[in-house]
Amino acid sequence: MDFPLKKGDFQGMRAEQRNEFQRVLRRKQVELERQLRVRREALDADPRGDTIDQARNMVERELVVRDLDMASGVLERVRHALREIDEGTYGQCRRCEESIAVKRLRALPWSRFCVRCQEAMEEGLELLAS
Ligand SMILES: [Zn+2]
Repeated sequence: MDFPLKKGDFQGMRAEQRNEFQRVLRRKQVELERQLRVRREALDADPRGDTIDQARNMVERELVVRDLDMASGVLERVRHALREIDEGTYGQCRRCEESIAVKRLRALPWSRFCVRCQEAMEEGLELLAS
């Protein structure tokens, strides 16, 4: 039994573990949606005041926009992870198709890659996908 894991052989995780991650991810989803709403409202607020306030508002606005980008990126991944839980593919590395370590998922439940693949990509060892 030392043949490489093929697509479709992925076993997934035990139901109670999957439920645990589902709870964590749903909580995160709600939290992110709330954060995004609050920040968008802050952006929509029309800044009135003197020029110093306006300058400060510009800087703050940029920070809020950056935060928004990051939060919506994470939210997108969280939603995708929840879909994967439904489909039974949650916890599978999208690059090598092996299981992502549960320890890693606990630290970052919306991980898409196993540690090995993540590191390889971060080090730029990954060749351009064909
Ligand atoms: Zn991998």
